[in-house]
Amino acid sequence: MQGGTILKEWQVEDAGGGCRAFSEVIVLACPKTGEIYSSTIPLTWDDGTSLEEKACSKLIQMMLNARVARDDYLYVCSGNIFHAFHSWLNENKYNWELSKIDGLAHERAEYLFHCQAVAAGFPDKIHLVDRNYRDYYRAVEEWVYADESRLVLLKDREVRRKPAETRYVLRGNGRHTRSCLKCGKKILPYTPVVVYRCRESCRKVRRYFHPACTPVEPLKSKLETMTVLWTSCNVDGIILHAGKEDYQCAVCGQKVLPGEKTFYGYLEKALITGHLSCFLNKKEPSPAPGL
Ligand SMILES: [Zn+2]
Ligand SMILES: [Zn+2]
Repeated sequence: MQGGTILKEWQVEDAGGGCRAFSEVIVLACPKTGEIYSSTIPLTWDDGTSLEEKACSKLIQMMLNARVARDDYLYVCSGNIFHAFHSWLNENKYNWELSKIDGLAHERAEYLFHCQAVAAGFPDKIHLVDRNYRDYYRAVEEWVYADESRLVLLKDREVRRKPAETRYVLRGNGRHTRSCLKCGKKILPYTPVVVYRCRESCRKVRRYFHPACTPVEPLKSKLETMTVLWTSCNVDGIILHAGKEDYQCAVCGQKVLPGEKTFYGYLEKALITGHLSCFLNKKEPSPAPGL
């Protein structure tokens, strides 16, 4: 008990992900109170989101409807479909753990998946037995493939293929100051940034995060970093092809032309920049061992 409300334990389970036909079912249930919330993933979509993100946003909505409290405890199935949701739970500091789900949520998820098939005409007498998904899903698929008019019941595998991670890329920020979607603070020009690209109602959208703030660890990195010795200080920086900023190379004094490989780093708040080749060939006493 806390503040007069009973803390609840919830289960999160899915069903139907392994079957080529019919929507995945997601269930949020509290076995003690018998509360059940469910949702389905559409067969296809075109807003550019991944399956994981779809499942995550469905679950966030279900948790709102169920009034899941910040102190409640969640047991969540470890399936791939929940990866984005797992990260979201961590970010939002929920109490939760991965778990093999038995009982209420599991049974309801399987039941609702079966109901979809039966509603479309699949024989009710063919059931899932002892969690033998392979046989059950194969029977469902065979039934779907047996009639051309049923092919519309197949999942769109293309939109499900893309994991969220592939749309997060670690790279060097250019000359623009960005604002981090997570913490709201500035992302300085010429510092590492995670760029997230997606499509929102047919518009291409980019979002920016500090590398420490990204909700999803990027699979791809286009970031090149380097540390140079400058006035006896180590300066960590990034390497980019120069834009049209017209900087002067700090080493040779010449202009840095667009497209040239360029080092950018900050010493305190001062930007140190110049030709990469100049920094590489610069004659300065090398840092003492161990530095
Ligand atoms: Zn941030
Ligand atoms: Zn130079």
